[in-house]
Amino acid sequence: MQKRKKLYEGKAKILWATDDPNLLIQEFKDSLTAFDGVKKSSMGGKGSINCEITSALFKMLESKGIDTHFVKKIAPSEQVVRHLKMIQLEVIVRNYVAGSLKKRTGLPEGKEIERPIVEFYFKSDELHDPLLAFDHIFMMGFVSMAEYNYLRKAALKINEILGNFFSECGLKLVDFKLEFGRHGTDIVLGDEITPDTCRLWDEKTGEKLDKDVFRFDLGDVESVYKEVMRRVTEISV
Ligand code: ADP
Ligand code: UDP
Repeated sequence: MQKRKKLYEGKAKILWATDDPNLLIQEFKDSLTAFDGVKKSSMGGKGSINCEITSALFKMLESKGIDTHFVKKIAPSEQVVRHLKMIQLEVIVRNYVAGSLKKRTGLPEGKEIERPIVEFYFKSDELHDPLLAFDHIFMMGFVSMAEYNYLRKAALKINEILGNFFSECGLKLVDFKLEFGRHGTDIVLGDEITPDTCRLWDEKTGEKLDKDVFRFDLGDVESVYKEVMRRVTEISV
């Protein structure tokens, strides 16, 4: 499959048109960004590491009945995906307190959340991805009530599947971000699931194996991302 026109270039990925209007090539870049793009770096091989991780995870989710955009991996840092009309929401699921939830509530980092929570943020660089109150979601017209219920249920189901999978990898799934899009009338999981979009802590040592290592200069980012790739690809079929 050939890359045609560049449709979009973001902070972490490039989307390319193909000869089939229903399919895109999603290319993973070597760039690393945090704090709304204020902290920037790049790491050789990062694109291929993230592409390998997300391809394995999406394949695993598909095998468990989750409808995703993933079609196939065609190069170290490229995958073919279904062309979705993205819903402008970031859906975040949390199992333990960390990041912005810690800031917002003052609860201690690492505190277990009894029933996983789902949050909806407005995906807008300009507004710095604000958290949306329940009524805002409908006021903005992003989704219907039925679609909201579907997204929440799908996010929790994905959390259960991913949590079990990462546990087999010896990793605690602290929190993560999902993006969904429309394909006809279906709502489909898009974007990526990688150490850029999840918090993953080693179950035994508590070591952070995700983008927080880059955000807060906690160690060697490359070896951390490679370690996640090693564990994920060892377990996945
Ligand atoms: P950002 O836009 O935040 O800088 P990326 O660099 O990851 O992020 O850009 C990837 C873009 O592609 C995001 O806007 C995401 O919503 C969008 N996207 C992800 N999967 C699909 C898909 N299957 N079809 C269309 N757009 C997608
Ligand atoms: N996240 C993401 N993209 C965003 C915002 C958050 O992938 O634009 C992920 C983040 O990596 C973490 C989870 O979503 O795994 C929850 O992030 P949080 O709200 O705590 O925000 P942070 O303060 O970490 O940016």
